[in-house]
Amino acid sequence: MSNVGNLKELFSSMVFNEKVMKERLPKDTYKSLKKTISEGSTLDLETANVVANAMKDWAIEKGATHFTHWFQPMTGITAEKHDSFISPLGDGSIIMEFSGKELIKGEPDASSFPSGGLRATFEARGYTAWDPTSYAFVKENTLFIPTLFCSYGGEALDKKTPLLRSMEALNTQALRILKLFGSEAKRVFATIGSEQEYFLINEEHFRRRKDLVLTGRTLFGAKPPKGQELEDHYFGTIKPNVIAYMHDLDEELWKLGISAKTEHNEVAPSQHELAPVFSMANIAVDQNQLTMDVMRKVAKNHKLVCLLHEKPFAGINGSGKHNNWSISTDTGENLLDPGKAPEKNKRFLLFLVAIIKAVNEYQDLLRVSAASAANDHRLGANEAPPAIISVYLGTVLTDILEAIEKSNGYVSKELEKVKSVSYVPEFIKDNTDRNRTSPFAFTGNKFEFRMLGSSQSISGPNFVLNTIVAEELKQFADILEKADDFDAAVTDVIRKVVRENKQIIFNGNNYSDEWTKEAARRGLSNLKNTVEALPSFIAEKSVKLFTSHGILTEKEVFSRHEILLESYWKIINIEALTVADIVKKAIIPAVYKYLAVISESTLKRQKLALPLDFSYDLELVSKVSALKDKLQSAVNALDTAVAAAKDIENTEKKARFYSETVIGLMTGARVCADELETLVSSEFWPFPTYSDILFAV
Ligand code: ADP
Ligand code: MG
Repeated sequence: MSNVGNLKELFSSMVFNEKVMKERLPKDTYKSLKKTISEGSTLDLETANVVANAMKDWAIEKGATHFTHWFQPMTGITAEKHDSFISPLGDGSIIMEFSGKELIKGEPDASSFPSGGLRATFEARGYTAWDPTSYAFVKENTLFIPTLFCSYGGEALDKKTPLLRSMEALNTQALRILKLFGSEAKRVFATIGSEQEYFLINEEHFRRRKDLVLTGRTLFGAKPPKGQELEDHYFGTIKPNVIAYMHDLDEELWKLGISAKTEHNEVAPSQHELAPVFSMANIAVDQNQLTMDVMRKVAKNHKLVCLLHEKPFAGINGSGKHNNWSISTDTGENLLDPGKAPEKNKRFLLFLVAIIKAVNEYQDLLRVSAASAANDHRLGANEAPPAIISVYLGTVLTDILEAIEKSNGYVSKELEKVKSVSYVPEFIKDNTDRNRTSPFAFTGNKFEFRMLGSSQSISGPNFVLNTIVAEELKQFADILEKADDFDAAVTDVIRKVVRENKQIIFNGNNYSDEWTKEAARRGLSNLKNTVEALPSFIAEKSVKLFTSHGILTEKEVFSRHEILLESYWKIINIEALTVADIVKKAIIPAVYKYLAVISESTLKRQKLALPLDFSYDLELVSKVSALKDKLQSAVNALDTAVAAAKDIENTEKKARFYSETVIGLMTGARVCADELETLVSSEFWPFPTYSDILFAV
């Protein structure tokens, strides 16, 4: 925490941002770069050369020796390929060089990144193209240049491209609406603040758990005597080693211009959360990727491991990412700010109902945007939002919309005041209470989409969100631009949308069984896992949506679907192999050793010919023995299934087989192993247990 006195200087000190550009670039260059950034005009090579040179000089001052195009392939994590600035002069000396060409375009060998059939195997070439809308930065002595990644044929192979395209679509359609309301705004953009949950565990424990090392989650582990039932961890006092980690993390993130702001303990033991201040969507996506990367690296310095997996421990809360999303203008307005009298704020209500309609009509797409093998352990379980999508509005907004629908006048209620103790100042209750169970909740001046998994890129859910809202705004603008009486037409649109979409609004407890039944009655979809959700990505309606707004071509939609299916079964395949490996090489041998000890001890004592009852001893031996046999047979069945899966050619069928058969067999083996863990002496158990891991940090 040495530098915190200089926080102002520290913040963004490693970022080639506006301020640095202004200082370091000739006026003309700065102007054309700004034009490129704000209007998307292409940058000529001459300007790029000047920018590249200034970037290089700045980066070298910050200690950089290398540069890398930094991109976000479909693996969901980021990729980089480092080149040094060094250029030999031929006389044994060197100069440090970086050209505009190197800044604008890179040519990584793309053959090892998933393309879902977009790139023939013989065509390994792919391009990375500089994205000037996201700032370059220096990390680990390297200048990082944010880029987009596409195939030789120009098809998007990354997570960023559709996001940027969706921001354009949202901008275009929202501006049409704003113009009708007489707004001066020239640019509209989505803003995102993503709260990131994570676990911190001891490095030593991590190293000894092959399942964590290979798959990011524990594949075994009996329920510990103490879990999270006392609810004593949530917002609890943060332990000194965790505080030290959080401080270091903040400092590293601040240097990169990431405004990490809130940090607290989460519900589960060893679980924590970090929230940054929100920013423009494309920046937020990059920064969340960086945050996850820095979280992992800083943990190493503290002999800790940061787990970002959605469900590292069964029976203990998993980790998600709350995606706070809103729409702002270049004139500094938040379009989802209801103001003091939302009932009179037609513009706000119009945007609000656009979102309600979007969520209702594209429930399945939103669902699929948060679907992954890892997140399947959370969604639908009792801790996270259920797999059913609904919108929480709170009573005030629900009442206002109902009044419009029924053409009743809305009677504004006096805002309730909260008074806890006589001398504590009164404060006014928020317009929306916090409904923690809703998957898509209005929280004051933004929506919070809560289904996202902790390790996923936030790009997918946000390009879907931007696009579906753009689509609804387009439909509204098509009507309203032709209206004679604009005011009346706006009210009509709002009324019609509420009437036709109100089934998606639900303010109650999303975790209750009644809601599942009620949602079914309302006809809301309930896609329980990834394999069930994925077909909606390639449904005709989705393809039409994506192609009509220029977000993804049909080919790109299908390739992405293929990649999602493939990554799904591959993850479960690795898990299945890991289960079998751990059982055979660690658990069974440990059980043999323990069995030998208890059997011998029984035998020896029997030889004493004392009047003793050996029924407990014999029972333990036979119970452990029987469980061991059951475990071995469960693993045999798993091995057979995994071998059979190899012959399934069709990716869809393969994914379904893993979902319907392999997962069940893995669970079967786990149940036996976990029961054995409760019987076998801890001295013999081959790896740290949940109690060891969860309460150590
Ligand atoms: P909670 O845990 O109660 O949901 P936090 O304060 O932890 O709330 O996080 C709220 C998140 O929402 C922060 O990242 C914040 O920056 C973000 N946020 C606030 N306003 C907006 C907005 N207009 N657009 C997007 N995100 C926002
Ligand atoms: Mg939240």
